[in-house]
Amino acid sequence: MLRANATSKFGIGSPATRLLQFLFAALVIVACSAEDTVGRAAVDQSISATTSEAVPTTESTTTSTTTSTTSTTTEPVEENAAPPLEEDGIPRVARTSTGVVLPVLTPLEEGYLVNTPCQNTAVVLDAEVNDRVHVVLDPGHGGSETGAVSPNGIVEGDINLVVALLAEEILTEQGYEVTLTRYDDIRVPLVTRVEIADRLEADLLISIHHQASNQFPTSDTPGVEVFYQQLIPESKRFAGILHEETLEAYSDFDITWFTGADAGAVYRLNTNTGTDFYGMIRLPETTAVLAEMGFLGNPEEIELIRTGELLPAEAEAIANAVIRWFTTDDPGSGFVEPSFSLTAAGSGGGIAGCEDPDLGATLEFSAAFGDDEDVSSEDAQGEDTAAE
Ligand SMILES: [Zn+2]
Repeated sequence: MLRANATSKFGIGSPATRLLQFLFAALVIVACSAEDTVGRAAVDQSISATTSEAVPTTESTTTSTTTSTTSTTTEPVEENAAPPLEEDGIPRVARTSTGVVLPVLTPLEEGYLVNTPCQNTAVVLDAEVNDRVHVVLDPGHGGSETGAVSPNGIVEGDINLVVALLAEEILTEQGYEVTLTRYDDIRVPLVTRVEIADRLEADLLISIHHQASNQFPTSDTPGVEVFYQQLIPESKRFAGILHEETLEAYSDFDITWFTGADAGAVYRLNTNTGTDFYGMIRLPETTAVLAEMGFLGNPEEIELIRTGELLPAEAEAIANAVIRWFTTDDPGSGFVEPSFSLTAAGSGGGIAGCEDPDLGATLEFSAAFGDDEDVSSEDAQGEDTAAE
């Protein structure tokens, strides 16, 4: 069986669960200020539903003591086990003590020379580093760039992050190395998100989104759209598998969905250039998809978010799709005719006006080189070039 049991993975105090609870608490505030007491009661109910769902069952609390042991070739490979990574000890991406993910240009004696989200350079002193990963999950938007906002105040950037954290939790328990492009409500331009995945030489990059709050046609079938790279067969295969898994995970919900012309596994081109429309799949060298998991204009889908049901289902679909993509040759399904657009995608992910988040302890760029004679700027640039 490839199906991961999402609800059994949420520890009471896990970051994903805490964020989920925080988000629903934030929704209460929105509801309190914007809606009557009936609306508030509905959201309160949703919090308790979410909280109780997050409590692990006794069966699932069995502590896994074997996951951290070094794998050897003699151990039997489990069906869902992640394939081994060719780790070489090179720090490629740093995660600061404040939770910001940064491409590493050069490791230094005291820390890491990094590119900041706004494409500045900094030396971070307190960070964990990643060598390589299987999957980069990209929660779309964040910070001042909110993405879509539902009529009752659900912010796309927030729920994209919840889904990514929940999916990371499932995949990590299955032995996959996963990194998110952001772990907080901060703005990260597209170029930095792409740089994180490419630098890590990830096998797969999944950009998670939800559609705008406009009116769309209704359907009995969920209108999820998984955009793949037109020239990359493995991107197409993952899109087809993710589309299948999403329909499967959403089959528990008997609601009227929103849908659109691109519902399915699909590629979308810029008519002028003939290249992929979305930057998050056009720019990376990494095999990538961009998934529009739902519609923030559909009151019935919003209600499923408020009751705490839809986002864990999305995460389960993503995690199951990753596992199937890595462990099977399944071709996927749900492929539809490509769509075209005359203009490039919006510039919401650019670096204009970008303000870097708190990176924790840092050194001034010049001070770092002035204090340490072993590290010249030539060395730094040389290693940077070699790493690219
Ligand atoms: Zn979006």
